[in-house]
Amino acid sequence: MRLSLLLTFLLSCSIAVLANGEEAVKKDKPTSNVAPVLLVAAGLNDDGSLVEHYQRGLRYAIEYFGNYGPYYVYLLGPDSEQSVREIYRQRALSRVDPNSAASAQQQINEFLKRSNVVTEIKAVLSGKAEGGLTWTQDSPVLYEDVTTNAKEREQNPIENTWGALHEYHHVFQMAHCDTKQERASDRHINSWMAEGMASYSSAKFMENLGLVDFKGYMLELRKSGANIGRPSINEFLAQTEEWQLDNESYWDQGGSAQVYYMLGAWATAYLIHVQGVDEVTVLKEWYHDIARLGKSVAFKKHMGLPLADFYKKFDVFIRQSDDEVMQIFQ
Ligand SMILES: [Zn+2]
Repeated sequence: MRLSLLLTFLLSCSIAVLANGEEAVKKDKPTSNVAPVLLVAAGLNDDGSLVEHYQRGLRYAIEYFGNYGPYYVYLLGPDSEQSVREIYRQRALSRVDPNSAASAQQQINEFLKRSNVVTEIKAVLSGKAEGGLTWTQDSPVLYEDVTTNAKEREQNPIENTWGALHEYHHVFQMAHCDTKQERASDRHINSWMAEGMASYSSAKFMENLGLVDFKGYMLELRKSGANIGRPSINEFLAQTEEWQLDNESYWDQGGSAQVYYMLGAWATAYLIHVQGVDEVTVLKEWYHDIARLGKSVAFKKHMGLPLADFYKKFDVFIRQSDDEVMQIFQ
């Protein structure tokens, strides 16, 4: 089974979101006037292409969703331990709360001693691909995209841009949810909404940038699993009689790549191309109402049907043949 670079990005970010108990976000935060900050370890980006290809995606996403932040992007690699440690010191500094009783130096030391931070630095220095999207719960609230082995990104301009687009959709999503709540909570979004909509949007935006054939990609999610994973949607559906988009247990039991990312992307396509909801409403506008109304009411208001009805209709739709489902893009 071939797991691509993108899957590494995608799944690592989700695992970070799910596993990181410190993370949460304020409700419906206003857009930020602070530009994203990219910190790149020595030994990377010698010709400027790593940052250029990341920024290509990030610029597009910010243009579409608005500027949420502060957002720090860490592109790290194993070549210079000194450079990596300096970047982590800067990262610790960015997280200093001026209103804390602890001094800035104490807070920096505390962050650098955290076991997950120590483990992450080790991963960077050994060239392992880990990390992903994180955000702080307490002041100062900020978002971080941490790539521990950015050499892979450097060597793959397409996936680099794609990953930047995908992660930024999560920044936007998390800015409109109460992530202290469970994903099943009405104040948070389900994993299929987070990953499926980010998988759809990033592929669509990649096509808009002239880098990917979107329809071909959606078909490949069914036939091969494309750059997300194996088995494909078709194989998964053939093996799995019962599945639910809003079941949050696939992270632990397997099937998260198929249900949340691939079927989630197709569920997003259904809303836009069968239900006929504007793309910008599905990918962006409805999120603005989640904190105020809850996701159930917000979904019904913007998508025009209750979530329960949507799940039933989508289940019937997605079990059709490739030829039949691809007709929605005609
Ligand atoms: Zn993701």
